[in-house]
Amino acid sequence: MHPLRSLILAAAGNDVIRRLVATAPVSRDVVRRFVAGETTADAIEVTKSLVDKGLTVTLDYLGEDTTDSGLAEQTVQAYLELLDGLRRDGLARSAEVSVKLSAVGQALDEGLAIENAARICARAQECGTTVTLDMEDHTTTDSTLRVLAQLRASWPWVGAVVQAYLRRTEEDCSRLATEGSRVRLCKGAYAEPAQVAFPDPHDVDRSYVRCANALLRGEGFPMFATHDPSLVEIVEARAEVLDRKPGSFEFQMLYGIRPDEQLRLAGLGHTVRVYVPYGVQWYGYLMRRLAERPANTAFFLRALVSR
Ligand code: FAD
Repeated sequence: MHPLRSLILAAAGNDVIRRLVATAPVSRDVVRRFVAGETTADAIEVTKSLVDKGLTVTLDYLGEDTTDSGLAEQTVQAYLELLDGLRRDGLARSAEVSVKLSAVGQALDEGLAIENAARICARAQECGTTVTLDMEDHTTTDSTLRVLAQLRASWPWVGAVVQAYLRRTEEDCSRLATEGSRVRLCKGAYAEPAQVAFPDPHDVDRSYVRCANALLRGEGFPMFATHDPSLVEIVEARAEVLDRKPGSFEFQMLYGIRPDEQLRLAGLGHTVRVYVPYGVQWYGYLMRRLAERPANTAFFLRALVSR
């Protein structure tokens, strides 16, 4: 892993740095480049503007690693309010939600996470939309896939996420590529040990291509989450060879990253879903985005010192 990436990911877990950044006079605009805002109304406003441009959306209420059942309950309530808002504003056909199980109690008790995620799924069904379970660090992969299987028994549309950097993922893709199965393929965003993850970024890219092939050959609905121009090109080419029409898979990108590319792909007839995070707990998310790209860090630091 790039030393700057390791450093920023380490900083993301450091409480002193967390307090420093969170209380620094960071301009609203800097955080707002990657985060829709802090409230449900902010999230809905950004969703509307993206949908108006022909994009679709998945919304993430920021928060993770909750070890407090009260906080897990607050997260569930935030999702329920959001889903009601999407329905009220006629956005539920174009916008779904992404949920981190660690934010709804996974670290406390898997049963609690299932119960909480089920409440979100039930409301999503009522509102006419879907839920995708984000994937977190490798210690949670098995638990998350177990929870997914349980939820899919009632709501077969619950989306899974797999991370190409994990050595196990190609096998997971083959297992998950069943009829109707929505599977997001991403590279993976956590600092992982070499025993479980490919340390060399080229190996991660090669794994991404193998996994993409497995998903495109299967019966499910693949969701290719990447900003990597070569991978986008390869996915488009493989989809054509494997006779996958636009609409039988989608591209996904993060809010604020390569917005022109999002519109270009949508203009070609692809479904493009933008992952829109919102909420007060933006710090960990922002640090992961900075770790991915030195230019993002430079942008952030420049904005800090230019105040
Ligand atoms: P990178 O290797 O980061 O970037 C590749 C190339 O993309 C760069 O070289 C550059 O050419 C281009 N690029 C990247 N950023 C920019 C930019 N700001 N401007 C211009 N070009 C840029 N991770 C998880 O672990 N679990 C999840 O559940 C999860 N969900 C995700 C959902 C979505 C919709 C997306 C898009 C990502 C998700 N991720 C998740 C994060 C993912 O794992 C990666 O960390 C992140 O997407 C960066 O990887 P990348 O594929 O974009 O490639």
